[in-house]
Amino acid sequence: MVYFFGPGKADGKAEMKNLLGGKGANLAEMANIGIPVPAGFTITTEVCTHFMQHKGKYPQGLDKDVKTALARVEKTMSMKFGDPENPLLVSVRSGARSSMPGMMETVLNVGLTSKTRDGLIKLTNNPRFVYDAHRRLIQMYTDVVMEKAEGIEPAEGMGIRQQLEREMHKMKQARGVKQDTDLTSDDLKELIEIYKVKVREVLGKEFPDNAMEQMWGAVRAVFQSWNGKRAIAYRNIEKIPHEWGTAVNVQTMVFGNMGDDSGTGVAFTRNPATGENIFYGEWLPNAQGEDVVAGIRTPLPINEAGKTERNNALPSLETSMPSVYKQLDDIQKKLEKHYHDMLDIEFTIQQGKLWMLQCRVGKRTGPAAMRIAVDMVKERLATKEQAVLRVTPAQLDEVLHPILDPKAEKNATTMAKGLPAGPGGACGQVVFTAADAVAWAKQGKTVILVREETNPEDVEGMRAAEGILTARGGMTSHAALVARGWGKCCIVGAGELHINANAKEMKVEDSNTLIREGDYISLNGSRGYIYSGQIPMVKSVEENPYFQAFIKICDGVRKMGVRTNADTPEDAAKARTFGAEGIGLFRTEHMFYGVGSDEPLFKLRKMILSNTLEERKSALAELFPHVKGDIKATLEAMTGFPVTIRLLDPPLHEFVPQHEDKQRELAQALNISLEELQKRSDALHENNPMMGHRGCRLGVTYPEVTEMQVRAIFEASAELLQAGKKVSPEIMVPVVAHGKELKHQLEIIKRVYGEVCKSMNLKKIPHMVGTMIEIPRAALRADKIAEVAEFFSFGTNDLTQMGFGFSRDDIGGFLPDYLEKGILPADPFQTIDQEGIGELIKIGIERGRATKPDLKIGICGEHGGDATSVEFCYKAGMNYVSCSPYRVPIAILAAAQAVVKEAKAAKPVKTAKKPAKKAAPAKKAKPAKKKATKKGKK
Ligand code: PEP
Ligand code: MG
Repeated sequence: MVYFFGPGKADGKAEMKNLLGGKGANLAEMANIGIPVPAGFTITTEVCTHFMQHKGKYPQGLDKDVKTALARVEKTMSMKFGDPENPLLVSVRSGARSSMPGMMETVLNVGLTSKTRDGLIKLTNNPRFVYDAHRRLIQMYTDVVMEKAEGIEPAEGMGIRQQLEREMHKMKQARGVKQDTDLTSDDLKELIEIYKVKVREVLGKEFPDNAMEQMWGAVRAVFQSWNGKRAIAYRNIEKIPHEWGTAVNVQTMVFGNMGDDSGTGVAFTRNPATGENIFYGEWLPNAQGEDVVAGIRTPLPINEAGKTERNNALPSLETSMPSVYKQLDDIQKKLEKHYHDMLDIEFTIQQGKLWMLQCRVGKRTGPAAMRIAVDMVKERLATKEQAVLRVTPAQLDEVLHPILDPKAEKNATTMAKGLPAGPGGACGQVVFTAADAVAWAKQGKTVILVREETNPEDVEGMRAAEGILTARGGMTSHAALVARGWGKCCIVGAGELHINANAKEMKVEDSNTLIREGDYISLNGSRGYIYSGQIPMVKSVEENPYFQAFIKICDGVRKMGVRTNADTPEDAAKARTFGAEGIGLFRTEHMFYGVGSDEPLFKLRKMILSNTLEERKSALAELFPHVKGDIKATLEAMTGFPVTIRLLDPPLHEFVPQHEDKQRELAQALNISLEELQKRSDALHENNPMMGHRGCRLGVTYPEVTEMQVRAIFEASAELLQAGKKVSPEIMVPVVAHGKELKHQLEIIKRVYGEVCKSMNLKKIPHMVGTMIEIPRAALRADKIAEVAEFFSFGTNDLTQMGFGFSRDDIGGFLPDYLEKGILPADPFQTIDQEGIGELIKIGIERGRATKPDLKIGICGEHGGDATSVEFCYKAGMNYVSCSPYRVPIAILAAAQAVVKEAKAAKPVKTAKKPAKKAAPAKKAKPAKKKATKKGKK
């Protein structure tokens, strides 16, 4: 129940965090490795759980165990608790398994009474220090133990702590002084008596003038604070189980405020902002712990190396107390070697003697996390597996994109919020049309394109803009998908915005904020926050050499392949530099949007609006060289890597021209009247295009459309093969629900394959034919579909849409309510809904592999770049995930972390007689080649 720790000896150790809490376990560990730690003891978390389950009763024998431990502390420190001559003072602090900063209580200077006070004055020869410690104890103790722990909820401003503070304030006024430190020791002595009267008056009880009573009161209050409102709320947010309980650490007090040979500080074993391997920290002479963090006095740099322009003139600990610094530096090095990680430490120097009060794994920024992980592998301080777990996906994301300056953002107020669709930050002038975005960008302006929602015709404007903001749409809406593909900052579904594109202004609901064209706004695309005005940006470190080194470490650990969804050769090239091993989704329709799309789009429109087979065939023949050229360029750019080329997916009406001038042009080309063209175009209208004439259904109705595309793929491949290039195209048929649909398409593909081999005089063209699994029926009938498919790629965007019946473009309208009301834990278009849609995926994999055990399976929905979903895919047994270029590093990291986590989880089973079965086959997918495209809005 009680674990002792003291210089050179401890009952506990670092691994015992569950029992001793983080602080207690690390204090024990430091003591064990010979680091000077003031002696103390830890009352375990089990005592806390007993306390909670038995209405505040302690387990039998605790009293005795505490006495024994206290006696050891007294012996070690050569002082006695409650002794009038040589009194020991202790701190009583909480310490949970995982840190809950500021959520629970602490009482310092416990053991100071009217009796021990005089002994301490004699010992220290510093009455002011002792009286100050005493009045601090009364303030803290009455607040924590006598008020909060008793469940007293005073009216605003009437808490005992505030009432005592007011007494102090009155005294300062009476003495005509400003600072607490200006009060003399006699003042403080008098204040203590005033405090005692006030406590009696407010709480109706005496402040306990007995050391033991104080200690037990403080221990009880700390246990009780586990169930304080703040702590419960924090655990709910952080998902920390309520049954864990906290440990209590009772530790000898050491004082950094005992003169100029004393001091206190906090430090990191490496720079937590950059990761540079330099001991980094701050200290204050003649001060207590709180003074460093509270910002009352400006802390000094700990060493010369850590000095900045700002604090260059201030004395460092290194120069002020060289021998103490040397000792501290040795300790930090020893601790890092021992813990194999960057640590955050707290120390106090009491009259020239150094004491370590805490050490724990230090919090760090994304770039620092990456650099530390890489350096520690090099220094052999961490294994690759450890390094992989040291960087979170969010930290890696931080490294990849320019972001709003966090300091400036903290001081800004959000104007509205939306869904965090594209990462990083952006700041620029608002424009309301894609054309304006292009024009303004040409003039060298930085713009944010604001739209109600975007559609494929906005692509050029989106490309030109620094950031994109829409009032409608969800995480897989067109804007989100496109922006993410480019790594562009984007916020969608900001429903509070009322956009009037004609008037070129937007209003924010329930506020007076009006933003006009040309006004500046700033976006935080990683969080979905929108600000009016300019917030400065800080650059990402994409070229950081540590980035490449870190990806290499992850590559060495992961087993699952990572590809990219890329729509242009540039995106594909970017993804390659990020580590992608091929293309998992090339949306062919990209060639009909954006730069250079005028001619192919015109020909596609001709094809769409053809009325007879003859007309259509002739239009397809015109289109053929464009499609072939595009595919060939992509295959060539990605030589040596697999490229999954998807056949045309969106409903055709999406490509029909809306403007009359374009319609006229087309009517002329087709040799028909404008009215006839409009009639044909109207006939293509669908009430529910997402579930309409799209994907393989187009190929069933118009086999010649499939035939043209497939011929383009085979001819392009054949020409490259003949030129000595390696190609491995994977033809993917979308929106398949029934095995017979795929079979129908496969027959066309086979026939064309034979024809091309013959005409090109080739025995074979390496390729695969597979399908997307993106309709629930396809997952359920995967066994049948696998009879005709060589690979599956889960299209989880559509699978989620059709599985939930949630429109992917309209979810922004209701998702915030679902999240707020706890109906859904996360946006299912962002993170796979494992229990529903995930079940469909598992069924699809199981049934598909029942037919073909080696069936290659991947994912190309947006979830392929979401860390939690990637881990799910690995466990489900997929061969690869595919995602937008900027998410490739995150997928690589998540895939590596999944392997390490799996091995960790399997560890306890290893000790059992039979080793645990491995969850996933997780073979690394073969690399392929290729490029990419953007798909239109459906
Ligand atoms: C999907 O549905 O998951 C998919 C990748 O296809 P798209 O987003 O193009 O519909
Ligand atoms: Mg789809």
